[in-house]
Amino acid sequence: MKFQTKKRTFVGLLLAALLILGLFVYYIWHLTFFKTTFFSQLIFLGLIIFLVGLAGVTFLGLVGIILSVFNIPLFPSWQKITRISVNAFYPFIIQLGKVFKITQDKIQRSFIELNNYLVEVRNIQVQPKELLLLLPHCLQQSDCSYRITIDIKNCRSCGGCMIGSLMDLAQRYRIKVKVVTGGTLARKEIESLKPKAIIAVACERDLSSGILEASPLPVLGISNERPYGPCHNTCVNLGLVEEGINFFLKRCGEWK
Ligand code: SF4
Repeated sequence: MKFQTKKRTFVGLLLAALLILGLFVYYIWHLTFFKTTFFSQLIFLGLIIFLVGLAGVTFLGLVGIILSVFNIPLFPSWQKITRISVNAFYPFIIQLGKVFKITQDKIQRSFIELNNYLVEVRNIQVQPKELLLLLPHCLQQSDCSYRITIDIKNCRSCGGCMIGSLMDLAQRYRIKVKVVTGGTLARKEIESLKPKAIIAVACERDLSSGILEASPLPVLGISNERPYGPCHNTCVNLGLVEEGINFFLKRCGEWK
């Protein structure tokens, strides 16, 4: 499965975060042993141990990403550390991006790309009933009156928007599908349906926060297209959604 945007923005910022953390550890170490009393040395020592641990997890995460890029398999626990370090550093990296004048959109796209890549390298296989396709309400034609958030089957497949085709796709592969109006409803659906994997369509901002919240659940994020501006009559690349379904189901041998 190929995704369009680049991972390197996020990986580069993660590396910058590691360097800053390293400098900070050095600074605290310097204060601990050269500038302070015995009591404050103890406190600083605790802080150093914490920061070194954090730097270690980040370092392992970065190495994990690099090995994954070269298709070198990782132990499941190392995959977990990689995922944790990427997710834990996300808020810091958004702030760091501002320093380097990198837009939030670009970082979020890069984060989604990296997340999708890390999902791809995990050996994930689910049954159709364990896969959830989460769609945003803004895919629906704005003047359509059918209540698809209650049940997508209320859609009449009139061709006015992509909901009908997405519903057909979900039915063809026998996966679960829900249309949600935001993060709260998405969380509720995940809690009640208990999927083992998710394909989520949304804008970059909602996808990033959703991926972080759903972790460690594997989420393949697909950005919607917004020809009429945000949150209004949006579209999605159906081929990418189908690729995502194929990715999660292909080992089940129930189709194709
Ligand atoms: S395909 Fe037609 S009926 Fe279905 S949600 Fe879109 S506009 Fe409404």
